[in-house]
Amino acid sequence: MNSDVAYETLDPEDWDAMRALAHRMVDDAITYLETVGERPVWQSVPEEIAARFDEPAPHEPAGAEAVYQEFLETVFPYPMGNIHPRFWAWYMGSGTVFGALAEFMAAIMNPNLGGGNHVANLVEGQVVNWIKEILDFPADSSGLLVSGGSMANFVGIAVARNTKAGFDVRKLGMQAAPRQLRVYASSEVHSSNQKVVELLGLGSNSLRKVSINDDYTINLHALEEAILADREAGVQPICIIGSAGTINTGAIDDLNALADLCQREQLWFHVDGAIGAVAVLAENVKEQLYGIERADSVALDLHKWMHVPFEAGCVLVRHDAAHRKTFSLTPEYLEHGTRGLAAGQFWFSDYGLQLSRRFRALKVWMSLKEHGLDRFGRMIARNVEQAHYLGQLIENEPDMELMAPIGLDIVCFRFNPGALDDETLSALNKEILIQLQEQGISAPSYTTLNEQYCLRVAIANHRSVQNDFDVLAEEVVRIGKQLVAERT
Ligand SMILES: *Cc1c(COP(=O)(O)O)cnc(C)c1O
Repeated sequence: MNSDVAYETLDPEDWDAMRALAHRMVDDAITYLETVGERPVWQSVPEEIAARFDEPAPHEPAGAEAVYQEFLETVFPYPMGNIHPRFWAWYMGSGTVFGALAEFMAAIMNPNLGGGNHVANLVEGQVVNWIKEILDFPADSSGLLVSGGSMANFVGIAVARNTKAGFDVRKLGMQAAPRQLRVYASSEVHSSNQKVVELLGLGSNSLRKVSINDDYTINLHALEEAILADREAGVQPICIIGSAGTINTGAIDDLNALADLCQREQLWFHVDGAIGAVAVLAENVKEQLYGIERADSVALDLHKWMHVPFEAGCVLVRHDAAHRKTFSLTPEYLEHGTRGLAAGQFWFSDYGLQLSRRFRALKVWMSLKEHGLDRFGRMIARNVEQAHYLGQLIENEPDMELMAPIGLDIVCFRFNPGALDDETLSALNKEILIQLQEQGISAPSYTTLNEQYCLRVAIANHRSVQNDFDVLAEEVVRIGKQLVAERT
């Protein structure tokens, strides 16, 4: 065979041209983030651009240069907005420059962390160990990185079900359940937990949503009564989900009280800490999270308040054996060896649903080392202070009102100039929200509390500075007054 034949591969034909393109891409990327605050927070994709995404699948090569040019024109100018200092919608993180570069290097190495004897698994193992340290979990507990809080809740609650069901759920399935199993959480619990309960075959009726106190934390008395009533009715309680930062108002349940109750009742204690678990790093918050270290499992997000680029979440499980027993299934082609590439008894695929797993640990590992935990703690603490600063601006402004106690970094409020009914106020505040977004000023989102529409600001943003909140407060009042003037 002629060794000079150029075999077709997916590698560049001209490595130097690719190198030059890569340099351009890095320059464009860094400038983009350096100047993000100068652009509108958000703008909708123009129709003529959106139409480009209807084009059929390409059969012929366009080449990297041309594709990058198209990206610059049709994709890059229209970000979601969460990288901008005045984005506070839903609950996002803002990403970091170095985190993005780490993501690139992870894709360059492109390993598969299902298992095997290679360094990427050591990186993920170390990251999980750091998270155990942060949450004061025992060193022999287990855990893995997952896509986010939803999957972390799935893993934790799956282990809870299989451990507490009292029969072999893996073998017999839920149809073998002699009694209905039940999971408890407050009415403020995140919807992902209900999805999990449904997908675990328990049915959404098996998630008992317990009433809340005025501060949006779970009502312990109501919870105890629900458990008692269920036991009397022949239902089998298995798990309590505590919220460490609810999505609506950032409320943190009394985690120590829930841990005590789980101990007394022999229930699994799962904590949904997608928002708040990492706030144990913040001096002004950590006391509110006491008790999280007693959980049987904790779900947390790294792409929210830790600003690791999407996606990155983590689940910790106190009982390694129970965790493994829920997910491990090893056919011959996946058998773990003692030497060579398949060596090592510890495979992450034994601890979750995914077999092929990306190297998401690298961006976490590099980000935590780049900044150190203490700086992340300061960023979180500052967001909490900013929430209270915004709360003060609202309280000082006669035309605005707070709609709930400020939990963590979440502020719920509305424009209310007085003398208007709730329906009118809802319509008014809906329009204010849309105008804030459409004018590119800021991106809060909204929620409904006690049947009242509220603007909702969730400040998981390391780029926000004090002035950004002055701008928000001024613009809400400006737009609100303008709308009221137009009505009359
Ligand atoms: C965001 C969130 C989730 C879901 O996490 P994802 O990372 O979006 O999958 C679960 N619980 C709470 C409280 C959240 O805020």
